[in-house]
Amino acid sequence: MSLDGAYDRDNIFAKIVRGEMPAARIFEDYDTLAFMDVFPQSRGHTLVIHKAAPARNLMEIDPQALNSVMATVQRVTRAVRAALKPEGIMVAQFNGAAAGQTVYHLHFHVIPRWDGVPLGRHGEGGMADPAELAKLAKQIAAAVQ
Ligand code: AMP
Repeated sequence: MSLDGAYDRDNIFAKIVRGEMPAARIFEDYDTLAFMDVFPQSRGHTLVIHKAAPARNLMEIDPQALNSVMATVQRVTRAVRAALKPEGIMVAQFNGAAAGQTVYHLHFHVIPRWDGVPLGRHGEGGMADPAELAKLAKQIAAAVQ
């Protein structure tokens, strides 16, 4: 059911793009934006989106727009590695509520992992301290190439 439906231009990520909602921004180019997840599953959990494509999920996005998003996913994943020195990095993307999707604006999760540190539960962790997120965003942004 949640795989179908109209793109909502007032979803939370569209509001972040327009500057109507705050976000700890890491990187932005003409097409894409990366910012910190406010309910992080690990320290440094980052989200990457297309700023203009009205796509709820992977199946709806124009392939050219997807190329732009993936280039930023790679760029930010490299920056997360350089900035936070994780031992692994998980990249995830969910389509539909049954798969765990809660925000219907296509996004990719970049989640750094450390040995022995369990992954927080998706969508069930507490809200991060905004000051800590701002600090992490600055650290990762400084490592973007
Ligand atoms: P998904 O469940 O794959 O749709 O992922 C949505 C993600 O967005 C979750 O990991 C949430 O923690 C995150 N999230 C929800 N609202 C915000 C927000 N205002 N700023 C940053 N991240 C958010």
